[in-house]
Amino acid sequence: MSALSIIFLGTSGAVPSAGRYLSCTVCVREGELLFFDCGEGAQFQVLKHKMGLNRKTKIFVTHLHADHVLGIPGLLHTMKLLGRTKDIQIFGPEGIKLLIEAFSEVTHLDPPFKIEINEIKNPEENPVIYETEEYHVEVAPLDHGETPCFAYALVEKPKPGKFNVERAKELGIPEGRLWGMLQKGLSVKVSGKTINSKDVLGPPKPSRKLVFCGDTRPVKSLAEFAKDATTLVHEATYKDEHKNKAREYFHSTASEAATIAKEARVKILLLTHFSSRYQDEDLDQLLSEAKEVFEKTILAQDDMVIRIPLDDGKKFKIEYL
Ligand SMILES: [Zn+2]
Ligand SMILES: [Zn+2]
Repeated sequence: MSALSIIFLGTSGAVPSAGRYLSCTVCVREGELLFFDCGEGAQFQVLKHKMGLNRKTKIFVTHLHADHVLGIPGLLHTMKLLGRTKDIQIFGPEGIKLLIEAFSEVTHLDPPFKIEINEIKNPEENPVIYETEEYHVEVAPLDHGETPCFAYALVEKPKPGKFNVERAKELGIPEGRLWGMLQKGLSVKVSGKTINSKDVLGPPKPSRKLVFCGDTRPVKSLAEFAKDATTLVHEATYKDEHKNKAREYFHSTASEAATIAKEARVKILLLTHFSSRYQDEDLDQLLSEAKEVFEKTILAQDDMVIRIPLDDGKKFKIEYL
């Protein structure tokens, strides 16, 4: 199982504030960068922290509000100027194609790499939008008023357990191709007898599920979508005192986000997208309101890195870039 971490490059909602860029959360998995939203300022952060402009990269856009997408043009332009050659994939709601293509055409971007844009249609019927041998990404709709908005889940596929060589020899399975098949979880036939992979494999290795939400009112169906997730990144634009504003502008308070996390029984809740009106003491209060509902809550900060443990028994590590 590979190393996995979440890096917050921007944690402010709507407008940037002192010390906080706009929404941009990056999941780093096996050297691959998976961006969830790309607010203005993302390229400064990527350059400042030397995250690499020619790495395998995907950008998942939750919705088309400016504070979540305006970082993409700058990032693509800088990637071109600094020699990116690898293709890049972008996923998002309908309209993302127009946005990227219009920008590319008007500014003559002409990058030496391919930009593959995937618009998400009918997420209820086709929730899985991307799949590799090791993980898949699925989407669920959120409630951000008139603006279509998604939550994304990166779900690792369970890996087969340790291969028991002695047991395989005892069962008379010849080394080679058949061992390989059993290691992949397949059944094999030896002298007319079927041997299942579970006869020679230990318990499956744990897999992880990371959920990244866009702007939203608290959505009941999200608790199901994020069920037992390792981490849930949820917006917390407001504290309880401004819950009417949260309702009016289709956002969540920290305690509303915590209620979803509690219901979903996630391991940890990571709050982000804070109103720029808030000072440190407001954010302390916002955190305590969430913790009253769900103790395992962390308030994201720009440059914060959450290292996700390989299995349940181990602790999440918080570091800073
Ligand atoms: Zn926003
Ligand atoms: Zn929004």
